[in-house]
Amino acid sequence: MITNTVLAQQSMPSSLHIQSQVPLADKTWFKVGGPARFFCEPTSAAEFQQAVAWAQEQRLAVFVLGEGANILISDAGFDGLVIRPALRNILIHDGAEQSVMVTAEAGVSLPDLITFCLDKNILGLEEFSGIPGTVGGSVYINLHYFEFLLSQFLVSAQVVNRQTGQVQTMTNDWFNFGYNQSTLQAKEWYLLDATFKLRRCSDLEAAYARGRRIEIIRHRVSRYPAKNTCGSFFRNFHNDEVTVESNGKKMIYVAYYLDKIGVKGTLSVGGAVVSYQHANMLVNKGNATSADLVQLARAMQELVRQQFGITPQPECILVGFDTYPLL
Ligand SMILES: Cc1cc2nc3c(=O)[nH]c(=O)nc-3n(C[C@H](O)[C@H](O)[C@H](O)COP(=O)(O)OP(=O)(O)OC[C@H]3O[C@@H](n4cnc5c(N)ncnc54)[C@H](O)[C@@H]3O)c2cc1C
Repeated sequence: MITNTVLAQQSMPSSLHIQSQVPLADKTWFKVGGPARFFCEPTSAAEFQQAVAWAQEQRLAVFVLGEGANILISDAGFDGLVIRPALRNILIHDGAEQSVMVTAEAGVSLPDLITFCLDKNILGLEEFSGIPGTVGGSVYINLHYFEFLLSQFLVSAQVVNRQTGQVQTMTNDWFNFGYNQSTLQAKEWYLLDATFKLRRCSDLEAAYARGRRIEIIRHRVSRYPAKNTCGSFFRNFHNDEVTVESNGKKMIYVAYYLDKIGVKGTLSVGGAVVSYQHANMLVNKGNATSADLVQLARAMQELVRQQFGITPQPECILVGFDTYPLL
């Protein structure tokens, strides 16, 4: 039963509201999945520390939720504490010459951060226009679009330790960034904020960047579904995983293989379908369950494996599954 009440346990942190049985489906882009056993939205680093300490004390698993743009939550939900950071401050510090440092807290949405920057004549992050998510989720995955990676802009960040609650400032190299890769994925540390080195620009350059932003979004909307999806479901292959070559280069793009198996807009399970716009995007038609999406993804894995001998692996993060449901 969903009670959605504020708990009143003795060991509860005083300034932090922890609720129970909170629905998660409406907090993700796929719009599926069961509830969080416990849920809170810390508004400061201190509250985030309280949440982590409480989970430790209660021996609960923790999941840190951003905008839910890259996750698939099981129909059973998450049997632990979901922390959704409501830390949403943005701070500007002057850098050397034309550069400017912008610190954004983990709960700031990336589209809001881009708008904030362009309004203040600050350039750089607009290359990620049209991509949903928070700063926390974006650093976790090392957000990417064509040749741009978020790690190219990140200078330092504050993180909190899962076990000790200790807060530390880390520089870019600590994150061990790669394509779809960062130290945060070990789930030992959670992001509190990140500082990006960006560039001051003239009014004219800012106006040009705004136009470019509109063009990027227009291009994205014409190519990708814009709701009830997690974006790319499978990651691209690594060089050593594939043998197919094109123009002397390894064909690492998973969409190439998914296009070849002919599932775009046709393959479906229950309320889940492969997007007609992009073969690597699964879409909830409105009534999908998490199980439908999992079955659809598995069917896609099987088809690629049968035809090419390689198995696509998810970029989308699976949350709350007792056993790993994919191949
Ligand atoms: C329509 C659409 C298009 C997309 N296009 C792109 C694209 O072009 N490029 C791209 O890279 N991605 C793309 N994505 C994926 C998604 O936008 C990114 O992965 C985004 O960064 C997810 O952010 P989030 O806040 O929603 O994270 P969530 O989905 O909520 O979480 C993702 C992961 O980040 C972790 N996390 C979140 N916050 C923190 C924190 N504070 N500390 C530690 N870990 C944290 C979570 O625990 C989880 O493991 C797309 C998604 C959609 C829906």
